[in-house]
Amino acid sequence: MSVIIDGKSLAKEIRENMKQEAEKLKEQGIVPHLAVIMVGNNDASKVYVRNKSKACDEIGIEFKEYLLPENTKQNELLDLIKKLNKDKSVNGILLQSPIPKPLDIQEAFNTISKEKDVDGFNPYNVGNLCIGQDGFIPCTPLGIMKMFEKYNIEIDGKKVAIIGRSNIVGKPMAQCMLSKNATVTICHSRTKELKKEVKDADIIIAAAGKRNIVTEDMVKDGAVIIDVGMNRNEEGKLCGDVEFEKLINKASYITPVPGGVGPMTIAMLTANVIKAAKLQNNI
Ligand code: NAD
Repeated sequence: MSVIIDGKSLAKEIRENMKQEAEKLKEQGIVPHLAVIMVGNNDASKVYVRNKSKACDEIGIEFKEYLLPENTKQNELLDLIKKLNKDKSVNGILLQSPIPKPLDIQEAFNTISKEKDVDGFNPYNVGNLCIGQDGFIPCTPLGIMKMFEKYNIEIDGKKVAIIGRSNIVGKPMAQCMLSKNATVTICHSRTKELKKEVKDADIIIAAAGKRNIVTEDMVKDGAVIIDVGMNRNEEGKLCGDVEFEKLINKASYITPVPGGVGPMTIAMLTANVIKAAKLQNNI
Protein backbone atom coordinates (compact mmCIF):
# COMPACT_ATOMS: atom_id res chain seq x y z
CA MET A 1 0.00 0.00 0.00
CA SER A 2 1.38 3.40 -0.95
CA VAL A 3 1.83 6.33 1.36
CA ILE A 4 -0.67 8.90 0.16
CA ILE A 5 1.03 12.28 0.22
CA ASP A 6 -1.28 14.66 2.02
CA GLY A 7 -0.87 17.91 0.13
CA LYS A 8 -3.86 19.43 1.86
CA SER A 9 -2.42 19.23 5.38
CA LEU A 10 1.12 20.12 4.29
CA ALA A 11 -0.29 23.18 2.52
CA LYS A 12 -2.15 24.12 5.71
CA GLU A 13 1.07 23.86 7.69
CA ILE A 14 2.85 26.13 5.18
CA ARG A 15 0.01 28.66 5.27
CA GLU A 16 0.19 28.73 9.07
CA ASN A 17 3.94 29.45 8.86
CA MET A 18 3.26 32.18 6.32
CA LYS A 19 0.64 33.71 8.60
CA GLN A 20 3.29 34.02 11.32
CA GLU A 21 5.72 35.53 8.80
CA ALA A 22 3.07 38.03 7.69
CA GLU A 23 2.41 38.99 11.32
CA LYS A 24 6.14 39.62 11.89
CA LEU A 25 6.20 41.82 8.80
CA LYS A 26 3.16 43.74 10.04
CA GLU A 27 4.97 44.47 13.30
CA GLN A 28 7.49 46.27 11.10
CA GLY A 29 4.77 48.18 9.29
CA ILE A 30 4.87 46.01 6.15
CA VAL A 31 1.69 44.52 4.70
CA PRO A 32 2.55 41.96 2.00
CA HIS A 33 0.55 42.71 -1.12
CA LEU A 34 -0.25 40.58 -4.18
CA ALA A 35 -1.73 42.05 -7.36
CA VAL A 36 -3.48 39.56 -9.63
CA ILE A 37 -4.36 40.38 -13.23
CA MET A 38 -7.03 38.45 -15.11
CA VAL A 39 -7.91 39.14 -18.72
CA GLY A 40 -11.26 38.01 -20.10
CA ASN A 41 -13.80 35.63 -18.69
CA ASN A 42 -12.30 32.23 -18.05
CA ASP A 43 -14.40 30.27 -15.55
CA ALA A 44 -11.56 27.99 -14.42
CA SER A 45 -9.32 31.04 -13.89
CA LYS A 46 -12.00 32.65 -11.72
CA VAL A 47 -12.00 29.58 -9.46
CA TYR A 48 -8.16 29.57 -9.23
CA VAL A 49 -8.09 33.29 -8.45
CA ARG A 50 -10.80 32.90 -5.82
CA ASN A 51 -8.76 30.16 -4.11
CA LYS A 52 -5.62 32.30 -4.20
CA SER A 53 -7.56 35.22 -2.75
CA LYS A 54 -8.90 33.02 0.08
CA ALA A 55 -5.40 31.83 0.99
CA CYS A 56 -4.06 35.40 0.99
CA ASP A 57 -6.92 36.63 3.19
CA GLU A 58 -6.28 33.84 5.69
CA ILE A 59 -2.60 34.75 5.92
CA GLY A 60 -2.94 38.51 5.97
CA ILE A 61 -1.64 39.21 2.48
CA GLU A 62 -3.43 42.09 0.81
CA PHE A 63 -4.94 40.80 -2.41
CA LYS A 64 -6.01 43.09 -5.25
CA GLU A 65 -7.62 41.82 -8.42
CA TYR A 66 -7.38 43.64 -11.75
CA LEU A 67 -10.01 42.40 -14.18
CA LEU A 68 -9.35 43.43 -17.77
CA PRO A 69 -11.91 42.93 -20.54
CA GLU A 70 -11.56 40.25 -23.24
CA ASN A 71 -10.66 42.86 -25.89
CA THR A 72 -7.74 44.35 -23.91
CA LYS A 73 -4.84 45.45 -26.09
CA GLN A 74 -1.29 44.27 -25.48
CA ASN A 75 -0.08 47.78 -24.63
CA GLU A 76 -2.91 48.21 -22.09
CA LEU A 77 -1.90 44.99 -20.35
CA LEU A 78 1.77 45.99 -20.36
CA ASP A 79 0.91 49.47 -19.07
CA LEU A 80 -0.94 47.97 -16.09
CA ILE A 81 2.03 45.69 -15.32
CA LYS A 82 4.43 48.65 -15.54
CA LYS A 83 2.20 50.66 -13.20
CA LEU A 84 2.17 47.80 -10.68
CA ASN A 85 5.96 47.40 -11.06
CA LYS A 86 6.35 51.03 -9.96
CA ASP A 87 3.82 50.83 -7.10
CA LYS A 88 5.93 50.39 -3.96
CA SER A 89 2.99 48.97 -1.99
CA VAL A 90 2.77 45.97 -4.38
CA ASN A 91 5.17 43.11 -3.60
CA GLY A 92 4.00 40.45 -6.03
CA ILE A 93 2.38 40.50 -9.48
CA LEU A 94 0.63 37.50 -10.96
CA LEU A 95 -0.85 37.31 -14.43
CA GLN A 96 -3.43 34.51 -14.46
CA SER A 97 -3.17 32.31 -17.55
CA PRO A 98 -4.65 31.73 -20.02
CA ILE A 99 -5.21 35.15 -21.51
CA PRO A 100 -7.08 35.77 -24.79
CA LYS A 101 -5.30 34.51 -27.89
CA PRO A 102 -4.13 37.69 -29.62
CA LEU A 103 -2.22 38.76 -26.51
CA ASP A 104 1.42 37.77 -26.04
CA ILE A 105 1.62 36.25 -22.56
CA GLN A 106 5.39 35.78 -22.60
CA GLU A 107 5.94 39.47 -23.34
CA ALA A 108 3.68 40.20 -20.37
CA PHE A 109 5.64 37.83 -18.12
CA ASN A 110 8.88 39.46 -19.32
CA THR A 111 7.48 42.85 -18.27
CA ILE A 112 6.76 41.82 -14.66
CA SER A 113 9.67 43.11 -12.59
CA LYS A 114 11.94 40.26 -11.56
CA GLU A 115 11.60 41.23 -7.88
CA LYS A 116 7.79 40.96 -8.04
CA ASP A 117 7.65 37.87 -10.25
CA VAL A 118 6.06 35.54 -7.65
CA ASP A 119 5.11 32.97 -10.32
CA GLY A 120 8.72 32.73 -11.51
CA PHE A 121 7.87 33.08 -15.22
CA ASN A 122 10.13 36.03 -16.01
CA PRO A 123 13.20 34.81 -18.00
CA TYR A 124 15.48 36.23 -15.29
CA ASN A 125 14.00 33.88 -12.69
CA VAL A 126 13.78 31.03 -15.21
CA GLY A 127 17.51 31.54 -15.84
CA ASN A 128 18.32 31.62 -12.13
CA LEU A 129 16.58 28.30 -11.66
CA CYS A 130 18.59 26.81 -14.54
CA ILE A 131 21.93 27.91 -13.10
CA GLY A 132 21.02 27.09 -9.50
CA GLN A 133 20.85 30.67 -8.20
CA ASP A 134 18.24 31.94 -5.80
CA GLY A 135 15.16 33.49 -7.39
CA PHE A 136 11.46 32.85 -7.69
CA ILE A 137 10.60 29.25 -8.61
CA PRO A 138 7.18 28.50 -10.16
CA CYS A 139 4.72 27.53 -7.44
CA THR A 140 3.72 24.04 -8.65
CA PRO A 141 7.27 22.59 -8.91
CA LEU A 142 8.21 24.41 -5.72
CA GLY A 143 5.27 22.80 -3.90
CA ILE A 144 6.24 19.37 -5.24
CA MET A 145 9.81 19.84 -3.95
CA LYS A 146 8.35 20.67 -0.52
CA MET A 147 6.44 17.38 -0.60
CA PHE A 148 9.67 15.46 -1.27
CA GLU A 149 11.32 17.30 1.60
CA LYS A 150 8.47 16.72 4.04
CA TYR A 151 8.21 12.99 3.27
CA ASN A 152 12.00 12.52 3.12
CA ILE A 153 11.82 11.06 -0.36
CA GLU A 154 15.27 10.67 -1.85
CA ILE A 155 15.91 12.33 -5.22
CA ASP A 156 19.70 12.11 -5.48
CA GLY A 157 20.70 9.65 -8.20
CA LYS A 158 17.09 8.65 -8.97
CA LYS A 159 15.59 8.33 -12.42
CA VAL A 160 12.78 10.82 -12.87
CA ALA A 161 10.29 10.82 -15.74
CA ILE A 162 8.31 14.02 -16.19
CA ILE A 163 5.31 13.92 -18.52
CA GLY A 164 4.75 17.41 -19.88
CA ARG A 165 7.16 20.15 -20.92
CA SER A 166 5.23 23.34 -20.24
CA ASN A 167 7.00 26.45 -18.95
CA ILE A 168 4.69 26.39 -15.92
CA VAL A 169 5.17 22.82 -14.75
CA GLY A 170 7.27 20.37 -16.80
CA LYS A 171 10.39 22.42 -17.57
CA PRO A 172 10.86 24.07 -14.15
CA MET A 173 10.09 20.72 -12.53
CA ALA A 174 12.91 19.16 -14.53
CA GLN A 175 15.31 21.88 -13.37
CA CYS A 176 14.28 21.38 -9.74
CA MET A 177 14.90 17.63 -10.00
CA LEU A 178 18.21 18.18 -11.78
CA SER A 179 19.30 20.53 -9.03
CA LYS A 180 18.82 17.61 -6.59
CA ASN A 181 20.98 15.32 -8.75
CA ALA A 182 18.27 13.25 -10.40
CA THR A 183 18.61 11.87 -13.91
CA VAL A 184 15.69 13.45 -15.70
CA THR A 185 13.69 12.40 -18.76
CA ILE A 186 11.15 14.89 -20.07
CA CYS A 187 8.31 13.33 -22.07
CA HIS A 188 5.84 15.26 -24.19
CA SER A 189 3.23 14.90 -26.90
CA ARG A 190 5.88 13.94 -29.49
CA THR A 191 7.51 11.31 -27.28
CA LYS A 192 7.36 8.09 -29.30
CA GLU A 193 7.22 5.43 -26.60
CA LEU A 194 5.87 6.95 -23.44
CA LYS A 195 5.57 3.64 -21.60
CA LYS A 196 9.20 2.76 -22.32
CA GLU A 197 10.41 6.14 -21.04
CA VAL A 198 8.34 5.97 -17.86
CA LYS A 199 8.60 2.28 -16.96
CA ASP A 200 12.13 2.55 -15.65
CA ALA A 201 11.57 5.67 -13.53
CA ASP A 202 11.90 5.77 -9.75
CA ILE A 203 9.86 8.98 -9.71
CA ILE A 204 7.07 9.83 -12.15
CA ILE A 205 5.66 13.34 -12.37
CA ALA A 206 2.57 13.48 -14.55
CA ALA A 207 1.66 16.91 -15.88
CA ALA A 208 0.03 16.32 -19.25
CA GLY A 209 -3.55 17.22 -18.39
CA LYS A 210 -4.69 13.86 -19.83
CA ARG A 211 -6.79 11.65 -17.63
CA ASN A 212 -5.33 8.15 -17.03
CA ILE A 213 -2.26 8.79 -19.17
CA VAL A 214 -0.24 6.96 -16.51
CA THR A 215 -1.54 3.41 -16.40
CA GLU A 216 -0.62 0.60 -14.04
CA ASP A 217 1.53 -1.23 -16.58
CA MET A 218 3.74 1.85 -17.08
CA VAL A 219 4.89 2.01 -13.49
CA LYS A 220 7.54 -0.07 -11.78
CA ASP A 221 6.92 -1.41 -8.28
CA GLY A 222 7.71 1.11 -5.57
CA ALA A 223 7.86 4.16 -7.82
CA VAL A 224 6.95 7.58 -6.43
CA ILE A 225 4.04 9.12 -8.34
CA ILE A 226 3.24 12.82 -8.35
CA ASP A 227 0.03 13.68 -10.16
CA VAL A 228 -0.18 17.29 -11.29
CA GLY A 229 -3.02 16.82 -13.78
CA MET A 230 -6.41 18.40 -13.22
CA ASN A 231 -9.10 16.83 -15.35
CA ARG A 232 -12.79 16.03 -15.03
CA ASN A 233 -14.21 12.51 -15.32
CA GLU A 234 -17.59 11.61 -16.86
CA GLU A 235 -19.37 12.64 -13.66
CA GLY A 236 -17.60 15.98 -13.65
CA LYS A 237 -15.44 14.98 -10.69
CA LEU A 238 -11.90 16.35 -10.47
CA CYS A 239 -9.24 13.75 -11.30
CA GLY A 240 -5.59 13.63 -12.23
CA ASP A 241 -3.44 12.07 -14.96
CA VAL A 242 -2.82 8.83 -13.11
CA GLU A 243 -4.86 5.63 -12.59
CA PHE A 244 -4.87 6.31 -8.87
CA GLU A 245 -6.97 3.37 -7.64
CA LYS A 246 -4.88 0.84 -9.55
CA LEU A 247 -1.56 2.33 -8.53
CA ILE A 248 -2.26 2.72 -4.85
CA ASN A 249 -0.88 -0.79 -4.26
CA LYS A 250 2.07 -0.42 -6.58
CA ALA A 251 3.60 2.98 -5.83
CA SER A 252 5.63 3.71 -2.70
CA TYR A 253 4.23 7.26 -2.50
CA ILE A 254 1.41 8.79 -4.50
CA THR A 255 -0.41 12.13 -4.53
CA PRO A 256 -4.21 12.21 -4.75
CA VAL A 257 -6.28 14.56 -6.89
CA PRO A 258 -7.79 16.56 -5.31
CA GLY A 259 -5.79 17.13 -2.13
CA GLY A 260 -2.29 16.66 -3.53
CA VAL A 261 -0.39 19.12 -5.69
CA GLY A 262 -3.22 21.68 -6.05
CA PRO A 263 -3.26 23.03 -2.47
CA MET A 264 0.55 23.08 -2.43
CA THR A 265 0.64 25.35 -5.49
CA ILE A 266 -1.46 27.96 -3.70
CA ALA A 267 0.50 27.66 -0.45
CA MET A 268 3.77 28.23 -2.33
CA LEU A 269 2.32 31.31 -4.00
CA THR A 270 1.78 32.83 -0.56
CA ALA A 271 5.33 31.80 0.39
CA ASN A 272 6.68 33.56 -2.72
CA VAL A 273 4.73 36.74 -1.88
CA ILE A 274 6.17 36.76 1.65
CA LYS A 275 9.64 36.17 0.18
CA ALA A 276 9.14 39.09 -2.23
CA ALA A 277 7.95 41.39 0.58
CA LYS A 278 11.02 40.51 2.66
CA LEU A 279 13.46 40.98 -0.22
CA GLN A 280 11.97 44.32 -1.17
CA ASN A 281 12.34 45.50 2.41
CA ASN A 282 15.88 44.09 2.82
CA ILE A 283 14.76 41.60 5.45
P1 NAD B 1 0.08 22.32 -20.92
O1 NAD B 1 -1.11 21.97 -21.75
O2 NAD B 1 0.76 23.62 -21.09
O3 NAD B 1 1.18 21.19 -21.10
C1 NAD B 1 0.83 19.84 -21.22
C2 NAD B 1 2.08 19.08 -21.59
O4 NAD B 1 1.74 17.70 -21.67
C3 NAD B 1 2.68 19.48 -22.93
O5 NAD B 1 4.07 19.70 -22.78
C4 NAD B 1 2.43 18.29 -23.83
O6 NAD B 1 3.50 18.05 -24.73
C5 NAD B 1 2.31 17.15 -22.83
N1 NAD B 1 1.45 16.09 -23.34
C6 NAD B 1 0.20 16.21 -23.81
N2 NAD B 1 -0.24 15.01 -24.24
C7 NAD B 1 0.73 14.13 -24.02
C8 NAD B 1 0.89 12.76 -24.28
N3 NAD B 1 -0.09 12.04 -24.82
N4 NAD B 1 2.05 12.16 -23.94
C9 NAD B 1 3.05 12.87 -23.38
N5 NAD B 1 2.96 14.19 -23.10
C10 NAD B 1 1.82 14.81 -23.44
O7 NAD B 1 -0.39 22.11 -19.42
P2 NAD B 1 0.25 22.59 -18.02
O8 NAD B 1 -0.10 23.99 -17.79
O9 NAD B 1 1.66 22.14 -17.92
O10 NAD B 1 -0.62 21.70 -17.04
C11 NAD B 1 -0.64 20.29 -17.11
C12 NAD B 1 -1.74 19.74 -16.23
O11 NAD B 1 -1.45 20.11 -14.88
C13 NAD B 1 -3.13 20.30 -16.51
O12 NAD B 1 -4.09 19.31 -16.21
C14 NAD B 1 -3.27 21.45 -15.53
O13 NAD B 1 -4.62 21.73 -15.21
C15 NAD B 1 -2.54 20.87 -14.36
N6 NAD B 1 -1.95 21.87 -13.46
C16 NAD B 1 -2.18 21.66 -12.15
C17 NAD B 1 -1.65 22.53 -11.23
C18 NAD B 1 -1.91 22.29 -9.79
O14 NAD B 1 -1.63 23.17 -8.99
N7 NAD B 1 -2.42 21.12 -9.42
C19 NAD B 1 -0.87 23.61 -11.64
C20 NAD B 1 -0.61 23.78 -13.00
C21 NAD B 1 -1.17 22.87 -13.90
